Amino acid sequence: MSTEANGTAPAAGTNGHASEEQVQIIIVGAGFAGLACAIESKLKGHHVIVLEKFPELKVLGDIISFGANAGRIFMRWGLHDKFWPVCTHLRQFHLHTWKGDLIDNTVLKPRADGIYHYNGHRGELHKILIEHAIEMGIDLRFGQQVTEYWETDDAAGVVVNGERLTADVVVGADGVRSKAREKVLGYFDKPRPSGYAIYRAWFTAAGSGIEEDPLANYLVKDGDAFYGWIGKDVHFLCSSSKDGKEVSWVITHKDEADIEESWQFPGKMEDVLKIVEDWDPRCAAILSKAPSCVDWKLVYRDPLPTWLSRKARIALIGDAAHPFLPTSAQGASQAIEDAVTIAVNLKLAGKKDAQLALRAFETMRYKRVRDVQVTGEVNRDKWHNADEEAVKKDPDSVKIFNEEWIMEHDAERWAFEHYPEVAERIKQDGYKLPELEDGDKAKERVVQAREEYLARAM
Ligand SMILES: Cc1cc2nc3c(=O)[nH]c(=O)nc-3n(C[C@H](O)[C@H](O)[C@H](O)COP(=O)(O)OP(=O)(O)OC[C@H]3O[C@@H](n4cnc5c(N)ncnc54)[C@H](O)[C@@H]3O)c2cc1C
Repeated sequence: MSTEANGTAPAAGTNGHASEEQVQIIIVGAGFAGLACAIESKLKGHHVIVLEKFPELKVLGDIISFGANAGRIFMRWGLHDKFWPVCTHLRQFHLHTWKGDLIDNTVLKPRADGIYHYNGHRGELHKILIEHAIEMGIDLRFGQQVTEYWETDDAAGVVVNGERLTADVVVGADGVRSKAREKVLGYFDKPRPSGYAIYRAWFTAAGSGIEEDPLANYLVKDGDAFYGWIGKDVHFLCSSSKDGKEVSWVITHKDEADIEESWQFPGKMEDVLKIVEDWDPRCAAILSKAPSCVDWKLVYRDPLPTWLSRKARIALIGDAAHPFLPTSAQGASQAIEDAVTIAVNLKLAGKKDAQLALRAFETMRYKRVRDVQVTGEVNRDKWHNADEEAVKKDPDSVKIFNEEWIMEHDAERWAFEHYPEVAERIKQDGYKLPELEDGDKAKERVVQAREEYLARAM
């Protein structure tokens, strides 16, 4: 990787330098997307530098979910034994109406193929991934805020702390408030309020009063548990982890405030409790045990017309390209799929066809990501608009499925199998920007896939 101001070719060889043949990648952001891209790229033989603006690792956030589609990648990297002990071991999901009537007890069985879902504290899982990347010898640089992106026909790079870095490609994995997105789009993509916000908390059970309260202690007294309540425009989910020692909850509710999204914005407990004033008293009993909470405003971004810069040497992945609603439980997993796809495509394309690799990445991922995004809306609407009488008759109507078209996907295998054909198509027919379809069409596809799944499951 060159750090020359004139972007000259890098020195070949070892000792952290790229060889002539290696694809050189600069990855901006060490969230799950950036780290996954770095790990898979290193495994595929590329030369990687990761630039992260945080000066050091901080254990931030609360509950995060990875489906089997990401789980199989983590397992392939040998991370299961590190991930699993800190994850929530869910056996059943108890779903209720806001009044407290039980809708369903869904048994959450391990998958027959032995692939795991991982639900746990975002900061703890992130720390494991950071440590793994460092152990692999990945060049991970903290305190590096990228301020500029650039590209030419032959190279791309960034300016960071006044230094100009050069590579073959740059991956913008810089999250929802991406600077790379501005470079790709050529304009600032202003988010819109979604009309919803989420209060979220994660706390230690001991000392919180939850173990002593009969309206709440079922969540922690017999290992890990998972409960939910749904009402008009609100849903409340809570679970315990580490054998009932830690508790987390999220409550999604209407909120029209036009405020910036932030994972650190503090919420007021009296506002949280107001939402469940007339709900099943078990809800307030659990919510009130949190010493504090975060008020996370959910914002919408329209699907981007493209994730690639003009010369196709800069690509957006993860939240920078496509933020998800939490009700899809797929934002982080789709970031992992993106990351793996880029690494495989670049391996198959090689340095000289790096632009083709990124074009194929966008072509291969765009429609799938849109469909998965839409599941977040479908799931939320299903819960927030549930008709109580209809739900009693048909509890399946509010069940949320681990849909097989999402979970069965093996991004690595898929990229190996499909890159050659997609690349050939692009070479023959020319590169086409992904087709933007209206949200309703994507919704129709998702609903139809779900109906087909249900029909097969009967
Ligand atoms: C602090 C924090 C807490 C979160 N907590 C949760 C949670 O509790 N539950 C949940 O489901 N999701 C949470 N998320 C979001 C979740 O991590 C993502 O939705 C998902 O994992 C996709 O990750 P990503 O890597 O695309 O984005 P992110 O996880 O947002 O990572 C982007 C990274 O890029 C870095 N970055 C941004 N701009 C620059 C720049 N100019 N130069 C260098 N680095 C830059 C950021 O510091 C960040 O580390 C959180 C994200 C953050 C940043």
